[in-house]
Amino acid sequence: MEIKVLKFGGTSLADGSQFKKVANIVRSDIQRRYIVASAPGKRFNDDVKVTDMLYESFKLAKNNDNIDEIFQKIEDRFNMIIHELNLSFSLDNEFKKIKREILNHGTSDYISSRGEYLNAMILAEYLGFDFIDAAKVIFFNEDGSFDEDTTNKVLSNTLKNHEYAIIPGFYGSMPNGDIKTFSRGGSDITGSIVASTINASIYENWTDVSGMLMADPRIVDKPQVIDVISYRELRELSYMGATVIHEDAIFPVRKSAIPINIRNTNRPSDNGTMIVPSTLRKDTDKMITGVAGKTGFSSITIEKAMMNQELGFGRKVLEIFERHKISFQHLPTGIDTMSVIVDTPSLIDIADDISTEIYRYVKADKIKIVHGLAMIAIVGRNLLKTKDSAARLFTALYKADINIQMIDQGSSELNFIVGVADDDYPAAIKAIYDEFVRK
Ligand code: ASP
Repeated sequence: MEIKVLKFGGTSLADGSQFKKVANIVRSDIQRRYIVASAPGKRFNDDVKVTDMLYESFKLAKNNDNIDEIFQKIEDRFNMIIHELNLSFSLDNEFKKIKREILNHGTSDYISSRGEYLNAMILAEYLGFDFIDAAKVIFFNEDGSFDEDTTNKVLSNTLKNHEYAIIPGFYGSMPNGDIKTFSRGGSDITGSIVASTINASIYENWTDVSGMLMADPRIVDKPQVIDVISYRELRELSYMGATVIHEDAIFPVRKSAIPINIRNTNRPSDNGTMIVPSTLRKDTDKMITGVAGKTGFSSITIEKAMMNQELGFGRKVLEIFERHKISFQHLPTGIDTMSVIVDTPSLIDIADDISTEIYRYVKADKIKIVHGLAMIAIVGRNLLKTKDSAARLFTALYKADINIQMIDQGSSELNFIVGVADDDYPAAIKAIYDEFVRK
């Protein structure tokens, strides 16, 4: 039988009624055997996630402030879920132990991981699945990186003994047994690791949106959902800030070519977005897969006659940035010009120093620094196959009265990147979306 691995995010497990939806989804398919659970998330806009309350209690305890009130709120969140699900089950002993740990100055990783731990216990009880503590199956190396070998071995052996199981997301253990968490949103990573370890047929990532959108909904009115996207296209769009899943969650499943399906717990009949290896991606008549961008970039453009013939020119320029610990984001070049695009905050205070050093070190003729740039990536596998795509892109921006300050084309052959002024950013996204999607 094929095995499906599911991960439910915080909003999907925020209260009893959400748990019921989760149970319906899981029970409707016997292949849905391994479920990774997040901590209870927000039930409404101003609500506070349990993980945030746990971090807060850690901070209070560190300052020797009273944690009774915040800890009561945490207990209430879980007890409410237990009550709404009519379970005769108590977490009181766990609460006591966790509170004691907080007061004894337990580590922030241990404390913040308890939301997943407790929520997974409730879900296991409710569904009648086995509970597997992530501390016993997910491992980190001494340097804090993920220990793939040990995890693979222990996790696959453990899962052999559990036909149906719930595993808390977000954490695992260090070689000495201490709890360690992934970065925020890390339950996505746990799900991906479980899926890849048992070679699942699919990794379903259940959240509160019906997939990844083709553009930012704060800029474009009701953008369409992306039905299929390749891992690489996703990487291009998420680099530009379009996120639907933790960036590090792509790698484990990508290696084993397991598709990820982003689904909506509140609308389970929606197909969501399929993230697949390029080879599995069907042909599409869609011109673009998505458009995304970010503001807050600066460009440093260096001009020097005959630069193209000067061996080591690029290296010397980049060395200066490296010395100042600034990583570059893009590197468009011309025959006698080279631009280095960086995040403005990393440059702003030392722009003059950098410019002096470049003049001195590579004997540049001219250096121009521009702040307030937005970078926009237009991603799509059909873009370069189609003759008029660049013409349409530039005409759309021209008609919207937007001046293009920079053009770059990723060597991945999947994208165009254009730089425009920060102020033009929303209008540019809208113009591109209208041209390629609404037409
Ligand atoms: N609960 C953790 C967080 O809020 C991890 C997760 O939800 O994936 O970041």
